Amino acid sequence: MKVGIIRCMQTEDYCPGTADFRAVAQKTGAFEGVAEEIEIIGFTNCGGCPGKKAVLRAGELVRRGADTIALASCIRKGTPVGYPCPFAKKMEELIEKEAPSVRIIGYTH
Ligand code: SF4
Repeated sequence: MKVGIIRCMQTEDYCPGTADFRAVAQKTGAFEGVAEEIEIIGFTNCGGCPGKKAVLRAGELVRRGADTIALASCIRKGTPVGYPCPFAKKMEELIEKEAPSVRIIGYTH
């Protein structure tokens, strides 16, 4: 699996993404049961509210080899403060439209 991870820009201020990298390295959370090797192609943020830049960034991750886009848990789950992104659904829909062949994972850990 070649994964590009997109996270919430608001959360970036206080989260360095440690749990995301751990989940990939240890194949836990969204990556549990993945048999193949997992390579992180890139780790970027949504570009800020309302997340329109996430679509462009997902496209760039795919151009750079990602076959999977993971929306970090800070987006849908609102981890770690319990404040989910109100634009998550739309963001995911538009990423699907931009890169129909890519697998989208809605969380990381
Ligand atoms: S659009 Fe959502 S994911 Fe992006 S900064 Fe705003 S709240 Fe975070």
